[in-house]
Amino acid sequence: DRVLIGNKVSEGHVNFIIAYNMLTGIRVAVSRCCGFMKPLTPTDFKFNKKLAFDYHGNELTPSSEYAFKFKDYCPEVFRELRTLFGIDPADYLVSLTSKYILSELNSPGKSGSFFYYSRDYKYIIKTIHHSEHRHLRRHLQEYYKHVKANPNTLICQFYGLHRVKMPISFQNKINHRKIYFLVMNNLFPPHLDINTTFDLKGSTWGRMTQFDPQLYERDQFYRPVLKDLNWLDMEKRIEFGPTRKEKFLIQLKKDVDLLAKLNIMDYSLLLGIHDIKPKEINDNQKEQQQLVFPETGSIEDSTNPNSKTAPITAVHYFKQFEGGIRSSDQFDKDGDKIYYVGIIDCLTNYSIMKKLETFWRSLNHDRKTVSAIPPRDYGDRFYTFIQKSVDALPQTKYKDNPEIKR
Ligand code: ATP
Ligand code: CA
Ligand code: CA
Repeated sequence: DRVLIGNKVSEGHVNFIIAYNMLTGIRVAVSRCCGFMKPLTPTDFKFNKKLAFDYHGNELTPSSEYAFKFKDYCPEVFRELRTLFGIDPADYLVSLTSKYILSELNSPGKSGSFFYYSRDYKYIIKTIHHSEHRHLRRHLQEYYKHVKANPNTLICQFYGLHRVKMPISFQNKINHRKIYFLVMNNLFPPHLDINTTFDLKGSTWGRMTQFDPQLYERDQFYRPVLKDLNWLDMEKRIEFGPTRKEKFLIQLKKDVDLLAKLNIMDYSLLLGIHDIKPKEINDNQKEQQQLVFPETGSIEDSTNPNSKTAPITAVHYFKQFEGGIRSSDQFDKDGDKIYYVGIIDCLTNYSIMKKLETFWRSLNHDRKTVSAIPPRDYGDRFYTFIQKSVDALPQTKYKDNPEIKR
């Protein structure tokens, strides 16, 4: 059976009201945004919609259990983005709001962000810092252009950017707090287990997850996210044939160039590996060759003018097999894998967040090994690390490699 991740956020949970308000806001705001799609104009990138909810409700908002304010940023742009990513509008709302249940992942990162999975595990809500929010808004047009020009981009798919403002009591005082959050794709599939997960930055500074290898072997529920030094230690590689390798690296390069241009750093390549057991591949799959993942494959009659969905774009190259990409097409090959891969956590602006860190870390450490370095250098180091990890010649282990310091 599937490993269920996170704690269910239901009534009584400390963050239940926050989650409830987030979902109520999304439900009302997104379902409003459903008229004909017009070509985006520059105003769409500046337009935000505000909604106020309370117990009584009004002509704009239905009655809500709790009083809060909701802000929907650039709704038309995100609607268009969802279309480009092949998300069906009705499915989107159903996944997120048909039942008000989310699973909370206790802040997996150090940033203090909260992560919530939609009930069907397809979407992730991540709370973000105000500076990350500002960064996304400022560069939304470039992000949009990039997605449009690169249907196979590996950069995180953003589906919505919102804010809730609500009273939160802290130490007997009530404060109105603004919580920024976004909705994005869960890179990992709802229906398959991920056997190994890596979060790779191309940096070696502190990039080792301590884990118990024996427990890891024994217990399929013990799945810590591994990092760069584990990757080198385990002599892992991304095993793509030449075509996939080329496609992957070309796309990665373009994505990294955009992130560097937008002054972003500290992102990682999230890589989930599902090992295919030979019996998993039945004849049916052999015939179909490429299984279309339900999320990206929904097709509605695009010739029907009343159709609310725009024509669905081609299936993402890196998501075409069970939502991921197979390491090979040889169906009976031993050790065949499905990779789930994307660039995550890509809203950290260098100038705001990292200048200080670079300063104090560089005092004692080799500049190449610290993780806070200027965006262009960060991007180059990131790209080089990944490039070396794809189906290349055996790499010198870090122990023998004087360039890599722990
Ligand atoms: P930090 O800034 O300390 O790295 P963060 O709070 O910004 O942390 P992320 O780096 O975005 O968090 O994500 C932390 C972890 O959550 C990732 O390593 C990954 O395991 C999981 N995760 C994040 N985004 C996704 C996604 N889109 N799909 C699946 N898992 C994800
Ligand atoms: Ca991160
Ligand atoms: Ca982060």
